[in-house]
Amino acid sequence: MRELSILEKLEILADAAKYDASCASSGTAKKNSIGGKGIGSTEGMGICHAYAPDGRCISLLKVLLTNHCIFDCHYCINRKSSNVRRARFTPQEVADLTLNFYRRNYIEGLFLSSGIIRSSNHTMEQLVETARILREEHDFRGYIHLKTIPEADPELVHQAGLFADRVSINVELPTDSGLTRLAPDKDARQIEGAMGGMKSAIVQAKVERKTFKHALRFAPAGQSTQMIIGADSASDADIVGKASRLYDNFRLRRVYYSAFSPIPDASAVLPLKRPPLIREHRLYQSDWLMRFYGYKPGEVMQATEADGNLPLDIDPKLAWALKFREFFPVDVNRASKERLLRVPGLGVKAVYKILAARRHKSLRLEDVGKLTVSIAKVRPFLIASDWRPVALTDRADLRALLAPKQEQLELFAA
Ligand code: SF4
Repeated sequence: MRELSILEKLEILADAAKYDASCASSGTAKKNSIGGKGIGSTEGMGICHAYAPDGRCISLLKVLLTNHCIFDCHYCINRKSSNVRRARFTPQEVADLTLNFYRRNYIEGLFLSSGIIRSSNHTMEQLVETARILREEHDFRGYIHLKTIPEADPELVHQAGLFADRVSINVELPTDSGLTRLAPDKDARQIEGAMGGMKSAIVQAKVERKTFKHALRFAPAGQSTQMIIGADSASDADIVGKASRLYDNFRLRRVYYSAFSPIPDASAVLPLKRPPLIREHRLYQSDWLMRFYGYKPGEVMQATEADGNLPLDIDPKLAWALKFREFFPVDVNRASKERLLRVPGLGVKAVYKILAARRHKSLRLEDVGKLTVSIAKVRPFLIASDWRPVALTDRADLRALLAPKQEQLELFAA
């Protein structure tokens, strides 16, 4: 068979990497500049964006080392029984591509994952070797995110952390039963064991660097994971519970939620339809409630409906507020930060601005209106110096009043 060119391999392996959401900037509208109209594109693959620990948004070459795989995870386009074009880079080829793109200013780093070739250990060695070439032979100081293989020898997984800024190990599915059914070659205990080892090494490295100036860096941007949603019957309550345990047990920087998307040549055990993308968005919102707004996982679960899923028409913070109206209204001029953070429509920045502003004056509804995109959403839940919601908070039709209006699609719209 003809040897593929580097460009052909890049096309195949950058496209195959697009299913991994764990460095993604998702949720935007599809646009491109095909036909010379405009400039830039939000479609396609190859370069993605991630946030560095200091908050910078950086562009990464997002690619697989290979899409050959000896495993047969039903939800994955690269599984061994899938009928796709296959390609394989050597570590040297990926290192060269990264350096060339970096010198041309296309990227600031590398996101590297891989199917399993030959064995988990062999694959992990190849991933580590790529990062080693970049760091040791070329003194590459850009960002590197390595996906690690939980089935590989712990020592090899550990080496990934010595070269990478961030490492990730995918838990894949929210429940152990889902993992057994859809990823029969994977083992939940092995995955969590690898995450535990990574957490210990990250914590230890931080302690050592405080004591010894020249102690080795180890995954300074921490570890993350990804969960596929909608491929099994796990509810949002299951997913929130799993995410919260992962944050607590392994000090993850991020849990990424990736709505399962039907793949060409899909396995018969998978659902035919993808879950609505808004479900993924609601899970990210619930994740933020736990990480930045002080909600306990059990409280986010209280926002779910009878089927255990978060409502799709309103965000989880509003859903919780509507269920627990006795908590409201909150006095914008007196309430604690924690209570203000519960008010639908008020973000973290707005709450800090309120706390600062009310030291100098008594806030009116108009003042709060300048800090939110939807004063209508805030009004039923807040008291200001010139505003009391009176019976508004308890109105039976409040949800209908606050839910975004559904737009009727026009049959002949352009
Ligand atoms: S191990 Fe599973 S998820 Fe990873 S590439 Fe292979 S088939 Fe896909």
